[in-house]
Formats: sequence, C-alpha cells, structure tokens
Amino acid sequence: MYEFNYHRPGSVADARGLLDSSDDAMLLAGGMTLLPTMKLRLAHPSDLVDLGNIEALRGITDRGPAIEIGAMVRHADVSRDETVRSAIPALAALAGKIGDPQVRNRGTLGGSVANSDPASDYPAAVLALDAVIKTDRREIAADDYYRGMFETALEPKEIVQAVRFPKPGRAAYAKFPNPASRYAVVGVMVAETENGVRVGVTGAGPCGFRASVFEEALNHNFSAAALEGLQIDPGDLLSDIHASSEYRAHLVNVMARRAVQSLGG
Ligand SMILES: Cc1cc2nc3c(=O)[nH]c(=O)nc-3n(C[C@H](O)[C@H](O)[C@H](O)COP(=O)(O)OP(=O)(O)OC[C@H]3O[C@@H](n4cnc5c(N)ncnc54)[C@H](O)[C@@H]3O)c2cc1C
Repeated sequence: MYEFNYHRPGSVADARGLLDSSDDAMLLAGGMTLLPTMKLRLAHPSDLVDLGNIEALRGITDRGPAIEIGAMVRHADVSRDETVRSAIPALAALAGKIGDPQVRNRGTLGGSVANSDPASDYPAAVLALDAVIKTDRREIAADDYYRGMFETALEPKEIVQAVRFPKPGRAAYAKFPNPASRYAVVGVMVAETENGVRVGVTGAGPCGFRASVFEEALNHNFSAAALEGLQIDPGDLLSDIHASSEYRAHLVNVMARRAVQSLGG
C-alpha cells in the first residue's frame, strides 16, 4: 500500500524546509497528475507536502502592466476571475477549456506549469504572453523555461509561487482538443505584445515552443492569409496514437489561423 508522511505547511518557507528534510518528498497541489501517478506506482514519495494551506499561493493580483496568478489558483478560478477576463480574456478562455469541471476545480496553475505535460494548455499562454515563472528562488523567463518532455528549468525542490502574465494588446487561443480528455492535441495562442507578435504552441512537440516563422509573417502582416503555406517542421513534432507529426504540423497552422481570424486578422 501507499506509505508516506502527509504535511500541510502554512508557508512557502515551511514547505521548503519539509522538502529539504527528505530526499523523496514531493509537492502536492490539486493531485490531478500526482495521485494517478502514485496509484500507478510510478511515483512513491516518502513525504507529500500539500500546498493547499498556503494563502500566499492563492491570489490573482493586477500589477498594472501584468497579472500575477498564484501557483495554487485553480483553472476554474482563472477562467472566472474578472481581472483576468477583462485584461487577458484569452487566458481566461484557455483555462475554461481545460479538461472537465472536476479537473478545472482541482487542477492548479502551478501544478500544470511545474508538470509541463506536452499536451497541457498553459505553455501556449506562458510563451505567447512572455510570462515569468516566479519561484521561491528566482524568476524564470518563458523563453528559458520549457526544456523538453516533462522537463523545465525548475531545479529539484524548487517551488513555483506564481506566474506573471504581461497584458497583451490582444490575444487569442485556439485548441484542437483530444475528444476524450480535452488535453490539447494542438493548441496555439497568438498575442500582440510590446515586443511584437508572439505565437506559443502546445500539444504539438515534446514541450511548448514558439512558432518563430509564424511570428515573422504576422509581424509584417497580421492576417490569417499571411500564414498560408507556412509550416512547422514535422520532424520536430510528436507522433502518437492521437495524431501523426504531419497532422500536428497541419493543425498548428490551422489553429494559428483560427486564432488570428478571431482577432479580426
Ligand atoms: C482527466 C484529465 C484531463 C485533463 N485535461 C487537461 C487539459 O485539457 N488541459 C490541461 O492543460 N491540463 C489537463 N489536465 C491536467 C490538469 O489540468 C492539472 O493541471 C495537472 O494534472 C496538474 O495537476 P495539479 O495542479 O493538481 O498538480 P499535482 O498533480 O498536485 O502536481 C503535479 C506535479 O507538479 C508538482 N507541483 C505541484 N505544484 C507545484 C509547485 N507550486 N511548484 C513546483 N512543483 C509543483 C508536483 O510535485 C507534481 O510533480 C487534465 C488532467 C486530468 C486528470
């Protein structure tokens, strides 16, 4: 059976202390990924450090040019929050399309960003909006964060505290969901930022990435027509029972054009 010590600290410092006190301790957010992983015996932590009691990880704060969302904010709250809906409606819409109501009411922004599932939705937003991942040690720019399949720039025992999303001029997210899980077979966010158009892609590759060829085209001419005939190299993409790499490459273009069209381009 499962054998672990359960902790529910009241501060990030205490959580950090608990992580440091054992080699095999793991953080628990909503448990949406971690608990099934434990049930499959793919993870067997000695200690579970539940972040659910840490008030500092919960808020959504308007910081003027950006919105900061705490790691323990659930997807349902991101989708419903008035600050997010008015400043970055595309982010609220993205959160509202994650999984099903049960998943949205348990899953958290921090858990999703730390886990970096290749089919998760947030990487598209983190990259397109040029977000910053705030941890208990440092701030990590979006472009430095995603490294590979389930691999990020986070070090062992580093705690995601919040994600800061700069407010874009305008942005839209288009997703081709897996019909069973709603995970993204491909999801694309297009955003007009202060540094030009950014295109964040998720679902297609081992981790989120920017479609720089698309960004170049949209910076010259912000229209769906500008993306006609452009393609991401399928050689860099995933191929599995859900979709071949060629189909995913096709979908990246289709989702990008849909996002641009929904912004009037
Ligand atoms: C049926 C189903 C459908 C889903 N569909 C979608 C979908 O359509 N789109 C989508 O994007 N996602 C989807 N998800 C994923 C879901 O949205 C969760 O975000 C994801 O499972 C992470 O769950 P969690 O937040 O509960 O984190 P947990 O499962 O508690 O933790 C996940 C991992 O992150 C670590 N961790 C947690 N919090 C932190 C932190 N603050 N700092 C550092 N490390 C941390 C944990 O130690 C663990 O390794 C789906 C999940 C399920 C079960």
